[in-house]
Amino acid sequence: MFPSEFDYERAGSVEEAVDLLATHGENQVEILAGGHSLLPTMKSGLANPDVVIDIGELDDLRGVDRHDDIVEIGALTDYSTVAGDDTLGDAIPAVTQAAQAIGDVQVRNRGTVGGNLAHADPASDLPAAALAAEATLHAEGPDGHRTIPVDDFFTGLYGTDLVEGELLTAIEMPGHDIGTYVKKPSPSSGYAMVGVAAVFELADGIVESARVAATGAIDHAKRLTAVEEGLVGTALDEDAIASAAPQATDGIETFELMDDNQASAEYRSTLLEVYTEQALTAAADHTGTAIH
Ligand SMILES: Cc1cc2nc3c(=O)[nH]c(=O)nc-3n(C[C@H](O)[C@H](O)[C@H](O)COP(=O)(O)OP(=O)(O)OC[C@H]3O[C@@H](n4cnc5c(N)ncnc54)[C@H](O)[C@@H]3O)c2cc1C
Repeated sequence: MFPSEFDYERAGSVEEAVDLLATHGENQVEILAGGHSLLPTMKSGLANPDVVIDIGELDDLRGVDRHDDIVEIGALTDYSTVAGDDTLGDAIPAVTQAAQAIGDVQVRNRGTVGGNLAHADPASDLPAAALAAEATLHAEGPDGHRTIPVDDFFTGLYGTDLVEGELLTAIEMPGHDIGTYVKKPSPSSGYAMVGVAAVFELADGIVESARVAATGAIDHAKRLTAVEEGLVGTALDEDAIASAAPQATDGIETFELMDDNQASAEYRSTLLEVYTEQALTAAADHTGTAIH
């Protein structure tokens, strides 16, 4: 299939990209980053932009920076860069494991962190990891720079807090020693039928803070707050995990669970509990905490 006709613009800087977004504000505009969601949707007719703004030459948005305990990943950084960086894996394991779990090698070489988060596909891997890792997103727009806490970012099906004319430029998050991401991939596409990310801070073997988030279950990535609350103050041992994991579906109504030809709502609900338990167990394992 061929996309409808569109105008093509190439931005030479972030400022130019923001100007182009403003100039074409009256039209349907899309940003071309890795193109791995945009081009299939254009070819299938689901997206028909009047203008496509290519940001592929904005090298300032590519790469990983570490300062103090903060990791900053440029929006145009591809998944392979994140997945293959061992020191990054030590600092933000939940995020690197999510990047490793995306699609196949071609997708990981082209798809970008910013594109993945901005597109907010309900079955994408990075949104759950970004939520668990307590990310802050950076955007540039007509009103200048804005930071968005990840808890406010994912608003619904393909919905984000980005406003018209805004470009996501980077994502930053504090390092965490204990974190993991596990997923049940779709056998056909590789997207998450369910994926769960878990990040913990421990003090003397006791969970001080917990952030656990799921993707693939409902129309957007979501924190599993009942699970988090059930784990704070525990030793993250087998009993604590066995009692917290079944809370994964708390606060999710049955009608909210995705129900499609990949998995029924009932099956997804079971997957959510099972993969939450797997994520918690894997995270505990990385700490050396005994699983009895
Ligand atoms: C075969 C296949 C398998 C895949 N498997 C997986 C998988 O297992 N897990 C997974 O998570 N994803 C998967 N994907 C999706 C892939 O990760 C995409 O790369 C991702 O969803 C979008 O990133 P992109 O850089 O390609 O963005 P693009 O396709 O270029 O853009 C997507 C959307 O985001 C917007 N956008 C892009 N960059 C920005 C920005 N910086 N600021 C604001 N808006 C922006 C665009 O306007 C567009 O609407 C798969 C894709 C394919 C084709």
